[in-house]
Amino acid sequence: MLTSDMFNPSDEHLMVREMVRNFVEEYVEPQALEYDRLERFNLDLFKQLGELGLLGLTAPEEFGGAGMDATAAVIVHEELSTSDPGFSLAYLAHSMLFVNNLAVNGSDEQKARFLPGVCSGQDIGCMAMSEPDVGTDALSMSTTAEEQKDGSWKINGRKMWITNGCIDDEGTPADIVWIYAKTGVDDRGRNSISTFIVEKGATGYSVGQKIMDKTGMRASNTAELVFDDCIIPAANMVGEEGSALMHMMRNLEIERLALAAMAVGISRRSLQAMNRYADERQAFGKAIRDFGQIQRHIGESWAEYRAMRAYIYDTARKMTLDSGGHRLDSDGIKLFATTAAKNIADRAMQVMGGYGYVGEYVVERLWRDAKLLEIGGGTLESHQKNITKDLARDPDAILR
Ligand SMILES: Cc1cc2nc3c(=O)[nH]c(=O)nc-3n(C[C@H](O)[C@H](O)[C@H](O)COP(=O)(O)OP(=O)(O)OC[C@H]3O[C@@H](n4cnc5c(N)ncnc54)[C@H](O)[C@@H]3O)c2cc1C
Repeated sequence: MLTSDMFNPSDEHLMVREMVRNFVEEYVEPQALEYDRLERFNLDLFKQLGELGLLGLTAPEEFGGAGMDATAAVIVHEELSTSDPGFSLAYLAHSMLFVNNLAVNGSDEQKARFLPGVCSGQDIGCMAMSEPDVGTDALSMSTTAEEQKDGSWKINGRKMWITNGCIDDEGTPADIVWIYAKTGVDDRGRNSISTFIVEKGATGYSVGQKIMDKTGMRASNTAELVFDDCIIPAANMVGEEGSALMHMMRNLEIERLALAAMAVGISRRSLQAMNRYADERQAFGKAIRDFGQIQRHIGESWAEYRAMRAYIYDTARKMTLDSGGHRLDSDGIKLFATTAAKNIADRAMQVMGGYGYVGEYVVERLWRDAKLLEIGGGTLESHQKNITKDLARDPDAILR
């Protein structure tokens, strides 16, 4: 049934929110600080998300998914990130960057072959676009895929910063990788990029390193992946040769939406923490809530949180998963929400003084995690560039 609540537009959305909220309270929150400190991905807990039907959230039901929409994706990322943004980032890499990518762009044969395993949590997936020398300028990638006489493909190159690239501290690689590689040059002299699926056990596929000592998002594993004469079957190319640009564009939109939703979760928790503390803490004979400077921290955070939440859920409502065309707002929400979340976590720490600066009070971890959102899935500068380009092409968007 549809409701008038923009954040829970149907009973089903509300049920998902309540289910994830309960799961977070019972299982995610108690482990969040420890896994951050250990810089470890909680694989067992992650697999439980499969039992809840969340790992294939937007994949079709016939392949083991839940068949839900972009708003559901926002709800899950928001709720997980109120407690453990690192764990939420691992969820994003699996469920949005691999599962949703395949559900939208794969063939029926590929969906039947791979989706049941990733929707259940039996297989852990990731997406490999960035390289040691190439991030924002993704189309200049140097990883190549060369067709062999028997129709198989040989992949050579290194992919950097891959969330879920390894799934433990021993360097066990992700079970399945959605990878972009150069397969030639198009008519305009630009790299022609194609999409492939690499499975665990493929010759020449390994982990180069698990990247340690990240500022934040330490409960997600980040790895460098190596493809050294890696051979994969012809059936693992996704779509036509050279069609990866379309896959990337479509998937970046839901990725940016989900990252912005993580900013909402971080902001919500930070705001709750500073609001509660403002009553508890007394100074100069009164609650610190009575000081004008504290009121500024809380008041500005409230307004920014509400603005980002409305903009994000409005964008989710309009986002169709099987087509692109939402870049202006997927960049807009991420540009606004990520810096706002970083500032809100910073204000929470300021309001809480010394207590805000230590792990037990959570906001220091949220503050560290928030910074990644300004870089991963597109830097702030890339959003500024895209928005300006899109508004030049469609100035009437300002009127709509
Ligand atoms: C924890 C973590 C997890 C990640 N997970 C993944 C993943 O799962 N899969 C994946 O493929 N990648 C992943 N990434 C990579 C991430 O997407 C890139 O870091 C990001 O795209 C930026 O690329 P870069 O780091 O190479 O920086 P660069 O692109 O080299 O940028 C450096 C600076 O130059 C600026 N710049 C570049 N071009 C322009 C321009 N045209 N105009 C203005 N300024 C510009 C940037 O904004 C930035 O400030 C992850 C990164 C991190 C840190």
